[in-house]
Amino acid sequence: MKNVLVTGGAGYIGSHTVVSLVEQGFYPVVVDDLRSSSSLILEGLSTLVKDGYTFHREDVCDLDSMTRLFQEYRFDAVIHFAAYKSVGDSCEEPLKYYHNNLLGLINILGLCRDFCIPKFVFSSSCTVYGEPDEKQVYEHTPKRLPESPYGFTKWMGEQIIEDLHRNVVPFQTLCLRYFNPIGAHPSGMIGELPKGIPNNLLPYITQTATGELSSLTIFGDDYPTPDGTCIRDYVHVCDVADAHVQSLFFSDPNPLCFFNIGTGCGSSVLEMVRLFEQVSGKTLPYTIGKRRKGDITEIFANVNASKNLLGWSAKRTVEDAIRDAWNWEQRRNKTHD
Ligand code: UDP
Repeated sequence: MKNVLVTGGAGYIGSHTVVSLVEQGFYPVVVDDLRSSSSLILEGLSTLVKDGYTFHREDVCDLDSMTRLFQEYRFDAVIHFAAYKSVGDSCEEPLKYYHNNLLGLINILGLCRDFCIPKFVFSSSCTVYGEPDEKQVYEHTPKRLPESPYGFTKWMGEQIIEDLHRNVVPFQTLCLRYFNPIGAHPSGMIGELPKGIPNNLLPYITQTATGELSSLTIFGDDYPTPDGTCIRDYVHVCDVADAHVQSLFFSDPNPLCFFNIGTGCGSSVLEMVRLFEQVSGKTLPYTIGKRRKGDITEIFANVNASKNLLGWSAKRTVEDAIRDAWNWEQRRNKTHD
């Protein structure tokens, strides 16, 4: 069985990837210090995959403990999720973001090189496109400077990887540029677990629907889109997880590849609210507020490369994702009662 190191494997996308990996016959070795997760996710994981994985509570920035881990296991691949991900927080505490996201990446990349790991998968983001000229972005669409320190850590992460590949070809690397992952495992055992008030749209919607939050503020309805609200490419987290497993099967003479991980279709904020109301049967209280600084009007993925080269495409619909997110939120609420 192939050992796969999954850093940040107790996080949102990481935990769903662990489930997909086990289903496909891999043995995930999860490293997570749980600072952005909780034992609830580990319990959910254990229910879903039993002893199909192993867990180490460690910090990827601690080079000594990471080195010990690489000595203990022979990894066939490394999937690196461990990073902070809040745009707003990163503006408040840029040093925390640069330290954690870049040092963690540098540590893991160095160990992959030193221990001759054949495959490395990096969690990147469509934030590397900044505010693009075209709404539909290709992998070759020029990168633009992101708006936030968080975005810069992804932008610089890709740059570090490119520089490492410039002179030597240490291993095959795939940079997966996620669009907007939403949803949860259909079992309701694992899902998104934002700390504090959520920044992202869907957890904000589901927590408003349970009454945890009083009302959703839609950040602006005067954008040049059909209903005036921003458009994003929302993709089911289980599909995102599957893209990582597919990356492990991917073989290509090109040692460094970039793939958009989205559905290829955009939905507006108001469309998401309406869809949620349909799926849940609830009326969502919302108001229209001011635009949020740094929000781009519209972006969605071109998915030709991920479909034709990586051999991956999203199988689940946005409705599926909303239904699964709502199921998870209700279950999580009960667990907390
Ligand atoms: N959004 C909103 N209210 C919220 C959270 C988000 O109107 O409380 C909007 C936001 O302006 C954006 C979309 O929902 O147009 C997706 O935002 P999110 O933060 O989830 O993702 P990102 O902006 O990083 O693509």
